[in-house]
Amino acid sequence: MDLKEFHRRSIEDREAFWAEQATLIDWHAPFTKVLDDSRLPFTRWFVDGQTNLCHNAIDRHLAAQSDKPALIFVSTETGDERTYTFGQLHREVQRMAAIMQALGVRRGERVLIYLPMIPEALFAMYACARIGAIHTVVFGGFASHSLATRIDDAAPVLIVSADGGSRGGKVVPYKPLLDEAIGLSSHKPAHVLMVDRKLTPFSRVADRDQDYAALREQHLEAQVPVTWLESNDISYILYTSGTTGKPKGVQRDVGGHAVALAASMKHIFCGQAGETYFSSSDIGWVVGHSYIVYGPLIAGMATIVYEGTPLRPDAGILWKLVEQHKVSVMFSAPTAIRVLKKQDPSYLTKYDTSGLRTLFLAGEPLDEPTAKWIAEGIGRPIIDNYWQTETGWPILSVAHGVEKTPTRFGSPGMPMYGYDVRLLHEQTGEEVGNNEKGVVAIVPPLPPGCLQTIWQDDKRFVDTYFSSIPGRQVYSTFDWGIRDDDGYYFILGRTDDVINVAGHRLGTREIEESLSSHSAVAECAVVGVADQLKGQVAMAFVVLKDPALVEAQQGRLKLEGDLMATVDRQLGAVARPSRVHFVTVLPKTRSGKVLRRSIQALCEGRDPGDLTTIEDPMALEQVRGAIAPA
Ligand code: AMP
Repeated sequence: MDLKEFHRRSIEDREAFWAEQATLIDWHAPFTKVLDDSRLPFTRWFVDGQTNLCHNAIDRHLAAQSDKPALIFVSTETGDERTYTFGQLHREVQRMAAIMQALGVRRGERVLIYLPMIPEALFAMYACARIGAIHTVVFGGFASHSLATRIDDAAPVLIVSADGGSRGGKVVPYKPLLDEAIGLSSHKPAHVLMVDRKLTPFSRVADRDQDYAALREQHLEAQVPVTWLESNDISYILYTSGTTGKPKGVQRDVGGHAVALAASMKHIFCGQAGETYFSSSDIGWVVGHSYIVYGPLIAGMATIVYEGTPLRPDAGILWKLVEQHKVSVMFSAPTAIRVLKKQDPSYLTKYDTSGLRTLFLAGEPLDEPTAKWIAEGIGRPIIDNYWQTETGWPILSVAHGVEKTPTRFGSPGMPMYGYDVRLLHEQTGEEVGNNEKGVVAIVPPLPPGCLQTIWQDDKRFVDTYFSSIPGRQVYSTFDWGIRDDDGYYFILGRTDDVINVAGHRLGTREIEESLSSHSAVAECAVVGVADQLKGQVAMAFVVLKDPALVEAQQGRLKLEGDLMATVDRQLGAVARPSRVHFVTVLPKTRSGKVLRRSIQALCEGRDPGDLTTIEDPMALEQVRGAIAPA
């Protein structure tokens, strides 16, 4: 079929289109209405339908695939390798579900998961889905302050965590960060379930902290039936950064989510039951939720859970996994490929990757040299895809399950079925023409699988996403885009203060708040600066209460180190600025708004733009001086 025709039908005949896609999953009770858009921008899909994500990921496959691999765990950090068949996974998930129930977790309550890439993390996610609890996974690289904010917002009754993770051969303790976070938060979970990997000793809080291995022994024979949920019940919350310091809890439903993932596995990723899917992302990100945990298993595929980096034990490890586990579909990020580009290219051909049909890349702009290098290096097709935590599955890509549309370097592709994508003028809200820059926007209703709202904040959902384009209630992605005459889109960067470091989305405001908590800091500005390897890095400009502190080189270096350590401790190393520069004044407008775009332009060697409103032109000179090579 023609992709454009497929897309047209998905917009013009929405209900019939999605009713067809809904047959890709199991329903315990049928829906009575495909789409309820009576309260836009809020959308309800598959109203009254009863289903369950865990059933669709696991139980549904037991009859045909009980002895086939479902979860393949490989840690190049600890040397562990374990494979669980669908049957074994079914048992582990029921044990975890029984433990959760014994610890008092009920339907609709939140369970926060703060774990490295280990099978138990997935057991916990599936167990929540099974019993109708809402999971909220916090990326293991986040530290106490980030964690505390999320604990307070989600108010979990249970936190599942571990003694630690490991990265690049170094143990990263989790428990002290977790204890600190619970100390900081006003909400206190009733229990913490600890997976003891015996990587690092940790202290336990009596009564509150429970041992997973011991409880698992008590529930070895547990049988926990699936709790059937209404399609619009909440499956999970995943926090993502925005322009304010407070992260947004992206909330997803059950039925729409399952249908969207099943459809994307068929039309976009083209995965077949019995094959193996490998995503090198992390369960802490949306790619991990959609395409490590749920999507592959819903499609009856095995998923690889990989704890490790692309470089250890050597730069061939990703391809070795592809060969060993006969991976047919792989998903990674441009940064991972740019990391490999610095290594010996012979690793790309050392292993037999001929079973790999496609390598999908997403999360940040895929530059043409990187795309070409990897496509030629492994001799397999590369497909870029553009989406967001909010949408849960690709907005732009090509759908080779529908039509073999050619890809175009530098473009993530065309609008995917279900997304009514428009490019709009930022100020007038009018549609721009081909080859003109506009804000990438989506006319509601958003398709199944997209966020329902922001957790406990409907107003913020509407105000943030549907109120930024004048005169129209459309969803803004906050990305600039352009479309060529053939309908291919190109993403040109964010319209807001969100930055993207190695595919990880960070709010500059969060980093500024963290730096400002240091007693020496009067005020600061953080901007994202283009970086060859990571896409962008954060750079900080700090005004001190006492500038004398950095008069000597030694004092400057020490304070820069201290400030970086503050961010590490509060937010985690992912958010650490690459440099902290000291200035005595920040460039601001006369009304006091920091001119972040101008600072960013200077850092990237571009023209700082319109400066008619600047209060003190010397402030920009200071920025220029600070970033000039010594
Ligand atoms: P996140 O919600 O963390 O996945 O970040 C989403 C943001 O990452 C988008 O709004 C884009 O700015 C960027 N992004 C994701 N995928 C792509 C892509 N394929 N090309 C360009 N930018 C992307």
